[in-house]
Amino acid sequence: MNKTTLSADKDPMGCAIKDFYFNKKADILRVFSPEFEEDEMPVNFLFRGFDEMPSVEQEALKLAQGRILDVGAGSGCHALALQQMGKSVEAIDVSELSVEVMREQGISARTINFFDTTFQAKYDTILMLMNGSGIIGHLENLPFFFQRARQLLAPGGSVLMDSSNLSYLYEQEDGSLLFNKDDDHYFGEVEFSLQYGEVKGEPYTWLYLDFETLEGAATYYKFKAEKLLEGDYYNFLVRLTPIEE
Ligand code: SAH
Repeated sequence: MNKTTLSADKDPMGCAIKDFYFNKKADILRVFSPEFEEDEMPVNFLFRGFDEMPSVEQEALKLAQGRILDVGAGSGCHALALQQMGKSVEAIDVSELSVEVMREQGISARTINFFDTTFQAKYDTILMLMNGSGIIGHLENLPFFFQRARQLLAPGGSVLMDSSNLSYLYEQEDGSLLFNKDDDHYFGEVEFSLQYGEVKGEPYTWLYLDFETLEGAATYYKFKAEKLLEGDYYNFLVRLTPIEE
């Protein structure tokens, strides 16, 4: 499990965010994956305002309360919207460049990896948005994720996270799911790498979770998992609350 932070020379998304913020324009942020055709991430979407956000994100922002931690906050779009709603939010991201852009906008942001156990504080709401489950990377990291969530939550607090069920990509006409037999990894573990101009990022794995898998793990690690809302693209918002012993 990677617990480090990201310097500018290895951070295509951070470079794109910084360009867009300071120069009001950005090149193409290219997305590569062995499982999909080459794609691009619209950089302006990373700066979306409340009205442009998907419904699951809007709902998460409405529900967020108390002391809020935005994990993997990127350009800070959610943190900014929360501040505009008069809520109290801190942001963390592994990207030094993104943190610079957030601070520039008046957001209380720090360059911290969520999985770095030297980071200890207590929050009433932990937000993980834009397929926020992704930073968990692999199913085998779920125990560590729940451990960190428990450490960082104040009594009565919870995690609000969105994810997507990717099984539709494998669905056959008869409704059954067809997976590559030689491939025993969970279908929601997707490898990506990003490129922005000359800046290439290391490949990483992003974890998309179906609700049943997430709920199963949550129950095992003594969290209550509630699906709060379904979006239009197989995506959903979930609330994870530690069950007090
Ligand atoms: N939440 C933002 C950004 C999503 S992109 C939005 O919705 O627009 C995912 C972000 O998570 C990136 O900025 C990346 O640098 C950050 N990230 C990835 N792994 C992380 C980790 N372990 N800890 C903190 N941030 C992480």
